[in-house]
Amino acid sequence: MGRSFADFLLSMIFPSRCVLCGEPVESLADGITCAVCWSALDRLPAARCARCHAPVSVPSEGCPACREMVLDRLRFLGPYTGALRAQLLFLKRKPYVCRRLREEIREEVAAESAFRDAELILPVPLHPRRQRERGYNQAELLAEEVACALGRPLRPGVLRRAIYTKPHGAGADAVARARSVAGSFVVTSAEILRGRVVLLVDDVYTTGATLNECARTVRAAGARVVYGFAVARALGWAFGF
Ligand SMILES: [Zn+2]
Ligand SMILES: [Zn+2]
Repeated sequence: MGRSFADFLLSMIFPSRCVLCGEPVESLADGITCAVCWSALDRLPAARCARCHAPVSVPSEGCPACREMVLDRLRFLGPYTGALRAQLLFLKRKPYVCRRLREEIREEVAAESAFRDAELILPVPLHPRRQRERGYNQAELLAEEVACALGRPLRPGVLRRAIYTKPHGAGADAVARARSVAGSFVVTSAEILRGRVVLLVDDVYTTGATLNECARTVRAAGARVVYGFAVARALGWAFGF
């Protein structure tokens, strides 16, 4: 009874067909993409930069892609393509993270030993105006899973977005993106951050402008180490898509 009612509610939210290939979605755990599209998730080669997780030809501690990175370390599930991209676009419209995505997040976060030192989990905030319009902050829903996987407190109020910036256009380059978010975050309680290891969470890492600006802000407020986690990273430069 409970099960069928839950199915009914979910069927109101989800299409029964995969948004990518049109085949039926057989498990509600998979959300809006089918198991086949999930399994086609672009898996990255094992040789990665230890710092920013980008694919590299020889495993290294730092690479050209993270020379300017402010975060001490970045992890993500995969490139911003296919099922991950579809799930994240959906999350901007509905406050729902399917079980498959939650499990993938927990696994990735648990696999990174450095993250065990994180003392506070901070979602990248939306400007209050945008959060009112959307009704929720999608980064906070993702950060809940990260906090849960690590058993660390989620502190959504510590970092605030003080300047309303327009969403970045798809073509905006790194310099334009960095300029548009510069100085747009403030810390509401520096006391909480002083000397701490912080893990910032966002949905997508595109040029890194947003997460790195957040990192700069919490570091200026006294955070000792600042890690980052994004569900997906735009890696067109690495693969040519
Ligand atoms: Zn599919
Ligand atoms: Zn790197």
